[in-house]
This record gives sequence, C-alpha cells and structure tokens, in this order.
Amino acid sequence: MRILVCNDDGILAPGIRALAEAAVQLGEVTVVAPDGQRSASSHGISLHRRLYVREHEGFAPGIRAWSVTGTPVDCVKWAVATLGARDPFTLVLSGINEGQNLAVDVLYSGTVAAAGEGALLGMPAVAFSLVGPDYPYTSAARAALRILRCLQRDPLPPDTFLNVNIPSAYPEQAPWAITQLGVRTYREQFRRQQDEEGREYYEYEGAEVEGPEGEETDVAAIRQGKISITPLCYRFTNFSMIDSLKAWLNGMEQ
Ligand code: MN
Repeated sequence: MRILVCNDDGILAPGIRALAEAAVQLGEVTVVAPDGQRSASSHGISLHRRLYVREHEGFAPGIRAWSVTGTPVDCVKWAVATLGARDPFTLVLSGINEGQNLAVDVLYSGTVAAAGEGALLGMPAVAFSLVGPDYPYTSAARAALRILRCLQRDPLPPDTFLNVNIPSAYPEQAPWAITQLGVRTYREQFRRQQDEEGREYYEYEGAEVEGPEGEETDVAAIRQGKISITPLCYRFTNFSMIDSLKAWLNGMEQ
C-alpha cells in the first residue's frame, strides 16, 4: 500500500506524527500537510495564492514528508498530482485531529475534507479525530490501525469515506459503533473586541447546543465512550425533491 497522510492541524501537530508512524505497519507512508494550523478550512483550495512546498525532516526513518503553504485539500491534490503521478497512492488518511468532528462539524472540518478529497480522487480514505481534552495520540493511532486493518479486508465502495471519532479515555479498549451524523449544532456567538489600534473586530465563539440525539448518532456514541465510525459520501442532490420540482416547472408559463 502507498499511504498518503494529511491533516489540518499542520505538519508539526503530534496527531499526524502518531498516525503516520502507526500507518508504517500497513505500507509506505508519505506525509503531506499544511505548514501551520488550518483547522476549519473545510474544502477550500488556494486558487489565487502561491503554494510553496518544502521537504520536512523529523518523522520516523522511512517516512518522507512535505509541508505546503496551503489548505488540507491543496495538500491532497498536490500530493496526488505530483508525488503520486507515477506510482499512485492507494489510501488517504487524515488526522489525527486535535478535537472531535461530529455532526455538522464535518462541513467545516479540514480533517474531514482532506479525506473527502481522497475519496473524490478515487481512493479509499479515512478521517480520524480525537475528542479531547486529553490527547493520547499513540493509543488513538493503535485504535486507528485496527480500523484500517478491517478496511483492508473489506474495501469501501468508491466515493465513500469514513469519519472516525475516538474518545480520549482508553481508545484501545473502547467499543466501536457504526453511526450516522448527529444533529448537534452551535449557538452563534461573536465576541466584540478591539485591536491594538482601536479598531473593532469580532471573534467567533460558537457554543455547542445539546439536543436530543438518536441512539445511532456519532454524538451519542462519543457520549457513551465509544469509537464512532460514520460512512460519508458527497452526494448533495436532494432526490426526494426532484419530482415535485419537475411538477413545479411544468406548472410554470414557459
Ligand atoms: Mn484541526
């Protein structure tokens, strides 16, 4: 296997090191990650900014690594188009993120987007996030490895990728749950601040809104101390609306 490892917390984050160094047991590992913190960059790409790429030392022997001055999705695209051009990657891993990516978080998360981009480019892909506030990355990486071994045995259908959230307490002993995304949202709050020159600015401080969650959701699984595994795919069409919208169109004067 040729494994590409990315994240959104940046190449220096302890989570990506733990994931890359565990993944070595499955195949040849290449790390391509942003040069700094890019959390919540979602599926963004750099169209009007230069991407500088630098080879990065410091991972375990045998792991080659590059930092990119762009987003997580830039990293995956660049890696696949250049390093993977002749000898394609066969698995894309993202994380291990510092913090959970549950429910609507998947829309904002760069960790999830990097895995999603892998799936869009035709590779099996998995995003890993560790809930915190303790971050036992090495133990979480061992749990991740067990999930990846299952994936090797039973491959995912093309365009599907996995969003895995790992609880902080005893990741290796935690039971697994196959889940759907929860409904938890955030209360939108912005704190008004002043900068050094007296200019006003705002800082986002969304607070989680706890609501009733179905038993089968990622949020519920994490509350119960389980590892949550949610299959995701990018199919945004709302098929239940197609027929009624066609009727709407037929009723219009054209
Ligand atoms: Mn992050």
